[in-house]
Amino acid sequence: MLDRVIEKLLALQECDAHRDNIQNQLERIPVEVARSEQSIQNELDAIEAAKIAVREMEVRRKNLDTEIKLAEEQTARYKTQQLQVKKNEEYRALQHEIDGMAGNISDLEDSEIGLMLEVDEATEKAKKEELERNKTIEDLKILISKREGHREDFEAELASAVAAVESAAAELDEKSMQVYQYVKMKAKRPPFVVSLEDQKCTGCYLRVPNEIKAEILKAKELVRCNNCSRILYCLPGHSLNS
Ligand SMILES: [Zn+2]
Repeated sequence: MLDRVIEKLLALQECDAHRDNIQNQLERIPVEVARSEQSIQNELDAIEAAKIAVREMEVRRKNLDTEIKLAEEQTARYKTQQLQVKKNEEYRALQHEIDGMAGNISDLEDSEIGLMLEVDEATEKAKKEELERNKTIEDLKILISKREGHREDFEAELASAVAAVESAAAELDEKSMQVYQYVKMKAKRPPFVVSLEDQKCTGCYLRVPNEIKAEILKAKELVRCNNCSRILYCLPGHSLNS
């Protein structure tokens, strides 16, 4: 009689564990989806940052271009002035300015060439990285949609697991059910129905007193571990050896 009750309790415990497992997996899905969405956002931000960096370099290059044009215009003005001056020293002073501007223009042009190479390199690198990042984003999107698919599977599975728990519970008498619920509350972690082996509870692995072992062997009613409160039973055959 009690063996049947233990059997049913073990069945219920198994159904409970199955349901909890599905429930846990289901709860993990939104967390994992959010993590993937954050990763996608990080990739998008990195793509945007690379584009901004290239644009900033282009702005710097354009500014250099403007500076060169201004310097060239200034040089042209000096040259016009040079044609108009009468005194040699004025002419030389203007020539000095023109030479100075030529030096400036040469430096600016060097900087511009250097920057143009940098822009090309950065553009190339940004394009390559964007392709890789877009590939990562695609993979993450596939992962998200897979997880969304899993959610539907798990939801369906959970519904049948809950039904299984209910029908396993319906097999038990009210008193046994109360003991089981009490043990779940007290022990917190499964399993809640455990075997006694070598006079040790296999839930907490502590030795139980002789009286408890004797109670279990009598098999009159459900016996709980004096330490962890779990329901104890003897494995088939063990009770015969006592
Ligand atoms: Zn125990």
